[in-house]
Amino acid sequence: MDDTLPRVALITGISGQDGYYLSKLLIEKGYVVHGLIPCNAPGIGEPPGLNLHYGDLADGSNFGTLLDTIKPDEVYNLAAQSHVRLSFDLPIYTADVTGVGVLRWLEAIRQHQQRIGRPVRFYQASSSEMFGKVSTPIQNEQTPFHPRSPYACAKVFGFWQTVNYREAYGLFACNGILFNHESPRRGEGFVTRKITQAAARIKLGLQDKLMLGNLDSQRDWGFAGDYVDAMWRMLQQPQPDDYVVATGETHTIREFLDAAFGHLGLDWHKHVEQDPRFLRPAEVDTLRGDASKAKRVLGWEPQVSCQQLAQMMVEADLAYQMTNDKCN
Ligand code: GDP
Repeated sequence: MDDTLPRVALITGISGQDGYYLSKLLIEKGYVVHGLIPCNAPGIGEPPGLNLHYGDLADGSNFGTLLDTIKPDEVYNLAAQSHVRLSFDLPIYTADVTGVGVLRWLEAIRQHQQRIGRPVRFYQASSSEMFGKVSTPIQNEQTPFHPRSPYACAKVFGFWQTVNYREAYGLFACNGILFNHESPRRGEGFVTRKITQAAARIKLGLQDKLMLGNLDSQRDWGFAGDYVDAMWRMLQQPQPDDYVVATGETHTIREFLDAAFGHLGLDWHKHVEQDPRFLRPAEVDTLRGDASKAKRVLGWEPQVSCQQLAQMMVEADLAYQMTNDKCN
């Protein structure tokens, strides 16, 4: 590799939460960043300096041409149908995009390397949902998978394809097994963002009730801005490998409600009601990750606690709702 040239990265799912934080990080590091957006993508505006291309994980027909043209050093596969509840309604679509989509990239990269003779490093966004019905109180790289949704089954498929391309073809391919990671850019359908958005709106008198599903489940929630740094670190190692990325702490939905509503001086018990529409046919009761390998090998550690995360998200939602309210 010519060290005088800027490195080139291609990010799928660049219009999502992780795509935003990762592209920002890579631009700061001097990368030329390309991103894949689906044809119905919302405008992503910032950060500037992105090179956007249409592409969809359900259709790999232009992946080879994109690779030959862009010649990326690193490909980060962050795109997916990533909503667990929705995957029960759209299981086949989810399997195709979230599962087979990974294989479309791996195969395109293998063929590209053969054609061009240039190595490409591949990051696969694997998920703690793969652990599902957990067999141990804390999960690491050795914990067996027991997926509990069409989404999680698709992620398990993508995980093993990534391992297999590494073992069969010597591809530099890594799985980041990321536990739940949130931010003010988290999609509005996920429980943390749903809570912080509602708390802000209730505080401003724009809404009174918040309908939720299962309040007893527990998650290991970290900050997305911290987690994209772990992705990058994985691709800088001498050898490809798989890593758990987590905070090691777990909290119930009730505790997250306490943190978010409490920050605004509100009592969530007066506002939250249960709606069976948000329950899932099979639930993941609890997740808690052991990121000691990431700490030891990558020198990675989370910087933001769950409490700080809830406050950051509530503040951002409050600011957003206030600006929005003024415009109305
Ligand atoms: P996931 O861990 O990837 O499924 O992330 P989510 O944020 O979608 O869900 C986290 C947990 O919150 C799950 O156990 C859900 O069952 C629970 N939950 C409770 N109420 C809701 C809700 O209204 N929406 C969502 N998305 N999750 C909810």
